[in-house]
Amino acid sequence: RSYATASTFRAADTIVKKTERGNPKPDPNKLVFGATYSDHMLTVKHTNKAGWEKPVIEPLTDLKIHPGAKVLHYATELFEGMKAYRGDDGKIRLFRPDLNMKRMLSTAERSVLPTFDGNELLECIKKLVQVDAEWVPRSKSSTLYIRPTLIGTEPTLGVAAPSESLLFVVTGPVGPYFPTGFKPVSLLADTFHCRAFPGGMGAFKAGSNYGPTIYVNKLAQEQGCQQVLWLYGEKRYITEVGTMNVFMCIKDKKGGVELVTPPLNGLILPGVTRQSIIDLGRTWRDFTVSERDITIDELLEAQQDNRLLEMFGAGTAAIVCPVERIVYEGKSYNLATMNKGAPITNRFHDEIVDIQFGRKPSKWTVDV
Ligand code: PMP
Repeated sequence: RSYATASTFRAADTIVKKTERGNPKPDPNKLVFGATYSDHMLTVKHTNKAGWEKPVIEPLTDLKIHPGAKVLHYATELFEGMKAYRGDDGKIRLFRPDLNMKRMLSTAERSVLPTFDGNELLECIKKLVQVDAEWVPRSKSSTLYIRPTLIGTEPTLGVAAPSESLLFVVTGPVGPYFPTGFKPVSLLADTFHCRAFPGGMGAFKAGSNYGPTIYVNKLAQEQGCQQVLWLYGEKRYITEVGTMNVFMCIKDKKGGVELVTPPLNGLILPGVTRQSIIDLGRTWRDFTVSERDITIDELLEAQQDNRLLEMFGAGTAAIVCPVERIVYEGKSYNLATMNKGAPITNRFHDEIVDIQFGRKPSKWTVDV
C-alpha cells in the first residue's frame, strides 16, 4: 500500500531562514535525553481550505496556538522518533527512515490528521539535518534525535477532525543509552493496567498512548523496578516493555533455539528496531525467529526450566536493552539472561550499530 496522497507539500519548495547566531553546542558527555535542541526546526501548516503550505526551516521558536486548539483538549497529536548518525567517515546517515514515514502516515490516518507524501517529509528532514549538521555529534555513540510531530491546531472544541494542523520537526543531540555498557533492567509485570487493547491505538504512535503510562511506570518504580512489562488479557500475553518491543530467546524442549516476539496484532507498536532484528535474525539462520503470542506463564515456565536464554527490549533509543528481573504477582524472578554475556542480544546490538554508523554497508541506511 502506498501512502502517497494527492495533497502533499514538496521538499523542493522549502523556505530556509537560517539563524544569525547558533547556540553553543553542549558537552557531548553530559547530554540528557530530549533536553537540548538544535538551532532550527521545520514547520509545515495544513488547512482544509488551502491544503499544505510550503515547508519552512527556521530558527527554533515557541509555537503560538489558540487555547482552543484541538491538540490541547483531545490529544489530536502523533509523533515519530528517529536518529541521524555520524559515521566514522564523517557522513551522516538515517536508519530505515521509510519505516518511520510509513508509521507516521498510518497514525495520521487513524488520527484523522492530514496525510502527505512520506518521501517529501523525508527529504525535508534531510534538509533540516543538513542545516543543523554541526549538531550531529562527532562520536561513536551520541546521535541526533529527530522528533517529527503532527498536531491539530483548529481552535474549536468539537471532537472532530481538525481543519487546521501543524507538522513540525525538532532535533537535538542525545547521548548513548548505556554510556558504560549494557545495564540490564528490571520489570514490573503489571496485571491490572494495560497499554493497548484490540481495536485501540496500540499499533499507532499517538501521544495519547504515552501520557497514561507514566502512572504505571511510577508504580513499577515504587516496587523497585525500572520499567513496565505490559501484559494483555486474561491469558496475560506479553506485549511490550516500557516503550520498547520485546524479544525472548528460548530453548525449546527439543533443544532448538527460538527468538520470540509478539505479532503485530494491533497491540504492538511496529518498531523499526523490532523489524530490523527480525530481518537480521532470519538471515543469520542460527535460530528460529517467531512472531507469535507468548504468555507470562510460558515465559516463566521457560525461566524455571533454565530454557530462557536471553530477553531484551528493542527500540531506537537503546537499540537493545537486556532484562534481568521480573516482578510478577508479588514474586521476583531473577532471569539468567545476562549470565553468559547475552551473546544474541550483543550480536544484534553490534550489527545494528555497525550499519547505523556506516561501518557495514547496508541498504537500510540513507545518506543525509
Ligand atoms: N514500542 C513503543 C510503545 C514505543 O514507543 C517504541 C519507540 N518508538 C517502540 C516500541 C520501538 O520502536 P522503534 O524501534 O521504532 O523505536
